[in-house]
Amino acid sequence: MTRPFVFPGLPTRVIFGHGTLAQVPEEVARLGHSRALVLSTPEQESAAQALAERLGAKAAGVFAGATMHTPVAVTEEAIATFRSTGADCLVALGGGSTTGLGKAIALRTGADQVVVPTTYAGSEMTDILGETAEGEKTTRRDPAIRPEVVVYDVDLTLTLPLGLTVTSALNALAHAMEGFYAPDRHPITEALSRDALRAFHRALPALIRNPQDGQARAQALYAAWGCSVTLGHVTMALHHKLAHVLGGSFGLPHAETHAVLLPHTTAFNEAAVPDLLRPIADTFGTSAGAGLWHFAKSLNAPMRLADLGLSETDLDRAAEIAAKNPYANPRPISRDGIRDLLQQAHTGICPA
Ligand code: NAD
Repeated sequence: MTRPFVFPGLPTRVIFGHGTLAQVPEEVARLGHSRALVLSTPEQESAAQALAERLGAKAAGVFAGATMHTPVAVTEEAIATFRSTGADCLVALGGGSTTGLGKAIALRTGADQVVVPTTYAGSEMTDILGETAEGEKTTRRDPAIRPEVVVYDVDLTLTLPLGLTVTSALNALAHAMEGFYAPDRHPITEALSRDALRAFHRALPALIRNPQDGQARAQALYAAWGCSVTLGHVTMALHHKLAHVLGGSFGLPHAETHAVLLPHTTAFNEAAVPDLLRPIADTFGTSAGAGLWHFAKSLNAPMRLADLGLSETDLDRAAEIAAKNPYANPRPISRDGIRDLLQQAHTGICPA
């Protein structure tokens, strides 16, 4: 029987293809704007400058100070540039860090956003913003955070280093995984997530062989879009809670942490809801958790929290923090259960 569901619609306009960067000026005009502030990290500044040149008179300038964890101090600096240049909208070119900066500015100024994602992290289709102030990371959801337009240009992902290709794809797969048991899931997120699993399953081994494989890059970016839509529509659970704790309280790197945790959080919840996670088992192996573990290993992904700098003596405290204000989860969460899960992820053994 079909479950009852609520489908809120897909509010963000999406342009997908090769060479679509050329359409950014048209999209800015379509939104009724004429002066875009282009955002990037320092590492992608030259790409941002090239985009500003392409925008010509429609560019107000470039702010290339985006950085991990969206510090509020950087947002304030960017807002000062937004105002002093007379910008009337934002174009964010980059991964989740740059998208995060655009969202933080939009939330405070009401500016429209055109996002051009260059990783698979999946922040662009969501109404979620994580930011840090005085060493503390907070996450919020607000309709004003959701970008108006997302321009996916496959060509921009050709330069994505192989390591980040793999870890940000596993970060995206974590959105799909938690989407399968989310209480607010609906047929669109389920269909897109199932399609994303299959697309990543085909694309990532091909990209290991040849990172310049344009077709595999297109499949991977398509998959990232599906996972991002899912993240933007549903409630996340244990996996995202643990990633948040390890990133926020222990400074672990974002995409790598998602990559290491994914097989273990999947196996943990598979014990409670095997039928809901069947699409993952069907795609990656006989069981969802072990299937993802073998897949990640075949891609040379990081497999151990120990390798990301988490010491074994931190596991007790991490389990305590994660068990304190747990997100709703299909399998009941206890401090000891989380401690066991973290131990497995710390040593990197294949989940049973
Ligand atoms: P990132 O944006 O921090 O990028 C990592 C590095 O790779 C940067 O130096 C960047 O300039 C570079 N880079 C990006 N794309 C490149 C390309 N195509 N070629 C060459 N270099 C490239 O990494 P990320 O994993 O995309 O984003 C992580 C951040 O996103 C985290 O802060 C996380 O919290 C956030 N995030 C937010 C959401 C959300 O919905 N709010 C979802 C997922 C991730």
